[in-house]
Amino acid sequence: MPEPRIVILTAPSGAGKTTLARRLQEALPQLCFSVSATTRPPRPGERHGVDYYFLSEDEFRRLIEQGELIEYEEVYPGRFYGTLRREIEQASRDHPVLLDIDVKGALRVKERFGDEAFAIFVQPPSLEALAERLRNRGTEDDTTLRQRLERARMELAMADRFDAVVVNDDLERAAAETLRLVRSFLERP
Ligand code: ADP
Ligand code: 5GP
Repeated sequence: MPEPRIVILTAPSGAGKTTLARRLQEALPQLCFSVSATTRPPRPGERHGVDYYFLSEDEFRRLIEQGELIEYEEVYPGRFYGTLRREIEQASRDHPVLLDIDVKGALRVKERFGDEAFAIFVQPPSLEALAERLRNRGTEDDTTLRQRLERARMELAMADRFDAVVVNDDLERAAAETLRLVRSFLERP
């Protein structure tokens, strides 16, 4: 693969990855979003092939067996998420790829691609703010909300393993900082 450029946003659920990813794509239209495979059900408004490839567990296991995923993770019990090889194979200097993936997947992609990947950890102002954002988003029931907050503790402890940390307190400030970091990565020789 000739000089891929991979930008990764990683964080606990609810920290603001999706929001920041959209801002990045508006500012940098050449950035292609890597659509992941998942076994979680779609939320209202989410589209197959746009937000995720929504698959059954059997279909997901087939992708693993066929070597079609460059990384995957059971992020929550029974909920698998994985990055498709073909999404990453499009990455080049002219068409960098943007990944929104969990911390473990992000570390695996960094291990594999080294300096060709740049991973930003999006940090919520506090665990309380994270819980409030997840509740306000209105996408989770009590069980999935609890699962997401339980995992967030482990995820927050991994912040210093990434190339940069952006605290998503004020959205405008965090979006500007993220854009500055990504631009300087993409401009590297
Ligand atoms: P993630 O993709 O990391 O799960 P989202 O981008 O869906 O997170 O953000 C979670 C919720 O928090 C959304 O409802 C979003 O509108 C809101 N949000 C994102 N950034 C901020 C911010 N800086 N301040 C307040 N709310 C925010
Ligand atoms: P959600 O269900 O809120 O869309 O995503 C839950 C978590 O799974 C988020 O942290 C998100 O970044 C992560 N995720 C999404 N796609 C992938 C993927 O392809 N691989 C991994 N490891 N995590 C992913």
